[in-house]
Amino acid sequence: MLDAEEGWWKNEGVAISDAIDRAGTPWLRMFDRLGKRVDKIVYPPEYQTILRRGYRSGVVWRVLEEKSLIPSYLLIYNISFHDPGICCPYTVSLGTAVPLVKYGSAELQARFLPQLSRKDDSVWQGATWMTEIKGGSDLGVAVESIAQPAGECWLLTGDKYFASNANAELAVVAARPEEAATGVRGLALFLVPRYRHDGELNYFIRRLKDKIATRSVPTGEVELKDSEGYLLGSADSGIYLILEVLNLSRVANSVVSVALAQRAMADALSYAEHRAAFGKRILEHPLLRHQFENRLNALRSAFALAWDSVQLLNDVWMERPPYSDRHHLFRLVAHLAKYWTAEFAVDTAKWAMEVHGGLGVLTEYGAERWLREAMILAIWEGTSHRQILDGLEVMERKRAHKMLFQRLAEIAPSKELQDMESEVEQHLRLPAEEREALAEPLFRRLAVFTAETLAHTSK
Ligand SMILES: Cc1cc2nc3c(=O)[nH]c(=O)nc-3n(C[C@H](O)[C@H](O)[C@H](O)COP(=O)(O)OP(=O)(O)OC[C@H]3O[C@@H](n4cnc5c(N)ncnc54)[C@H](O)[C@@H]3O)c2cc1C
Repeated sequence: MLDAEEGWWKNEGVAISDAIDRAGTPWLRMFDRLGKRVDKIVYPPEYQTILRRGYRSGVVWRVLEEKSLIPSYLLIYNISFHDPGICCPYTVSLGTAVPLVKYGSAELQARFLPQLSRKDDSVWQGATWMTEIKGGSDLGVAVESIAQPAGECWLLTGDKYFASNANAELAVVAARPEEAATGVRGLALFLVPRYRHDGELNYFIRRLKDKIATRSVPTGEVELKDSEGYLLGSADSGIYLILEVLNLSRVANSVVSVALAQRAMADALSYAEHRAAFGKRILEHPLLRHQFENRLNALRSAFALAWDSVQLLNDVWMERPPYSDRHHLFRLVAHLAKYWTAEFAVDTAKWAMEVHGGLGVLTEYGAERWLREAMILAIWEGTSHRQILDGLEVMERKRAHKMLFQRLAEIAPSKELQDMESEVEQHLRLPAEEREALAEPLFRRLAVFTAETLAHTSK
C-alpha cells in the first residue's frame, strides 16, 4: 500500500501539489446567483485527486476497521514527504472520527460514522475547531462560544478564528454549555454537521485565510449561529476530549515534521552531489559533509522519538479518564516529540535552503517551501512554548519522567540516565517562576536524550 502511494506521488501527486502551492489555493464562494448564502469552497479539481486518494488508501477507514492507528500514521508519514499540508485534513478527520467512536452515542455513531469511513470519493471530511480570536493557547479563557440545550441537540453560537478544513461535513467544536464553570473545566466538545436537519447551512464561513503554507488547505473563520451540535461524552469532561483530539494531532505533527526534515535533506543532498565549488562537488567539502552526517543522525533520532509517540498512542488511544500511567507517559513523550521534531524541521529546512545557496530563496525550485511549511508545524497544535509547559506539568503532577526513565533504563548508559534524571528532579524543585523561565534548555536536552536513546534501540 505504501509503495503504491509512493509511486503515485512521484508520478502525479508532486506536480499537482507544487502547482497548488504556487497558484491554486482554494477560494470561497459565499453566495449563489440568487444571493443565497452557500459558503462553497472552490478548489482546483486536481486537489480533489490528491485529497481523496489519501482517504481511499485508508487514512481514516483503516483505523476504524483495523482498530489500530499505525496504518494512518504510516500513510501520513509517507504523504508528508511530498506534501506536508495535505496531512492536515487527514489528521482532523481522524480527530473527528476517534472521539465519535469513543464517546458518541449509538445513535450518533450510526448517523455519522459510516460517512467518515467510506472508502470511495463520497467520504466525509472532519475538522477540529477550538481556537477563537482571543487565542489558541489559553482555551479556558479564549473560548467564548456558548452551547444551549435544545431538546435532542444543542445550539452553538460563537466564532472560530482558525478553522482548518473549513468546509468539513462534520466538525468537533469546543464550546461552553450555558452556566457551565469558567476555565477549561467548563468546556465541552460537540459534533457539528455542515448542514442542519432541515438541509440549511449549519455554520457559515466568513473568509478563508491567506497563509504562507499549507496553502491547499482551506483554513477559514467559521461563524456558529444557533448551529446544531451534539454533545460528545459528558458536559463536564470536555477538556479531556479536547486534549485527546489535540494529542492525535500532535503525534501526526511529529510524524509530518520528520518527513518534512527528511525531504528537505534529500533535496539538499541531491543538490550538493551535483553542485561544484573550489574544484569539487560541494558535498565533498569536509564542513558540509560533516553537517550532512550529523544531521542524518539527528533525523534518525527525531524519527525514533516521533515513532515512539505513535506507538505509545496506539497503546492508549481507547483509554478514557481516569488515565493509566502509560497514558501519562504517552503525554510526556508526545509533548517532547511535538516540540523537538517541529524545531528540528524548521532548523533543517533553513539549513537545506542554505545548502542551495541563492537558489534556496527562489520560489521556482521549492527549497523555500519546506521552511514555510515547517514554520506552521511549530505553531499549530500548540506552540513549542505550550509543549514545554504542558510537558513540565505532566512531570510535576503525574511524575511521568519516572516512567520515561524506567522505559529508557534498559537501553540508556546508566551514568547518562542518572545525570539526566537528577537534572530533571533538580529542575522540578526550582521555585515556580524560575522553573518556567528556565524550562526550555532542560526540555530540549530531555527531548534529545530521549530521541537519541530510542534511536539507539531501533538500530
Ligand atoms: C495554518 C493554521 C491552521 C490552524 N488550524 C486550526 C484549526 O483547524 N483548529 C484550531 O482550533 N486551531 C487552529 N489553528 C490555531 C492554532 O492552534 C493556534 O495558532 C495555536 O494554538 C496558538 O494559538 P494563538 O495563535 O492564538 O497564539 P496565542 O495563544 O495568542 O499565543 C501567542 C504566543 O504566546 C505564547 N504563549 C502563550 N501562553 C504562554 C505561556 N504561558 N508561556 C509562554 N508563552 C506563551 C504562545 O506560545 C505564542 O508564541 C491553526 C493555526 C494555523 C497557523
